[in-house]
Amino acid sequence: MINSPSVFDLIRRYDLDPKKSLGQNFLVDESHLARIAAAADLTPADIVLEIGPGLGVLTRHLAAQAGRVVAVELDDRLIPILQELFADQPHVSFVHADILKVDPAGLISDDRRQTADGESVAPRNSPLATPYKVVANLPYYITSAVLRHLLECAQPPTRAVVMVQREVAQRIVAGPGDMSLLAVGVQFYAEANIVQKVPAGAFHPRPKVDSAVLRLDVRPQPAVTDVEPDWYFEVVRAGFGQKRKQLRNSVSAGLGLNKEATEAGLAEAGIDPRRRAETLTLQEWGALAKALGKGNSEIEGLRD
Ligand code: SAM
Repeated sequence: MINSPSVFDLIRRYDLDPKKSLGQNFLVDESHLARIAAAADLTPADIVLEIGPGLGVLTRHLAAQAGRVVAVELDDRLIPILQELFADQPHVSFVHADILKVDPAGLISDDRRQTADGESVAPRNSPLATPYKVVANLPYYITSAVLRHLLECAQPPTRAVVMVQREVAQRIVAGPGDMSLLAVGVQFYAEANIVQKVPAGAFHPRPKVDSAVLRLDVRPQPAVTDVEPDWYFEVVRAGFGQKRKQLRNSVSAGLGLNKEATEAGLAEAGIDPRRRAETLTLQEWGALAKALGKGNSEIEGLRD
């Protein structure tokens, strides 16, 4: 992006004071920006939802490669600036909203409704709505909430490439032995990989922590399909509710089950009751949720 204004140029030109409360750490290193866009593997057939375009430095890369970019930004000071910067790129549009309060796929179909000009338009929340990718340098104060919002919405993206705190990225891609509620929550819906580590010095203002870019390839079906996701996560939350406790204690306390019923469920799932939540695979959680499921009459009989 030779000759494009830098973050420093833009801050000076628009006399902007980055807002810490909105997680405004702008990425100033062009090589990292290019690699984030590359991880999304964009073609002119792609529609991209960008969360938090900031001063548009990542948006520039996305706009050069994707067929459409819809960017949602909460800071109202930035919307007119972004509109001015991208005035000559009609395939890029900006929405002033809080990503957590809008339906991600709805942003795409609403945008098509406004701009399609006679083209057939996918209805909101329709399973036939247009596939889309998410690319974002996320505001860190809402990372987990945004990931949950994206992965649990009616039509999730096919892929999300997101910059997050390095420690959070490492927790998300962890394997059995180091699992957490966050890791299970993300891996249930997507295959997660770290594609790039990014030092704090690549941002302005410089954050206190290092970052990493995560690529989430959303699974066509969740990793466990024979259990209701709500019940699955109730059991997982119970297991992680009392950290470092043996499962027979954490699960029984979290679900309000007596020890006998809990141990019977663990035995049925083939899980040693002395194991701890961080050691279980996604499939083992599924087996446990099934064994403790409300329809299991043997376990029902042991409930208090
Ligand atoms: N994409 C830019 C970059 O890479 O330099 C800016 C990234 S900055 C880490 C995060 C951006 O998200 C900021 O522009 C901030 O205003 C915006 N933001 C914060 N909370 C938001 C929310 N709830 N919904 C949408 N945007 C948000």
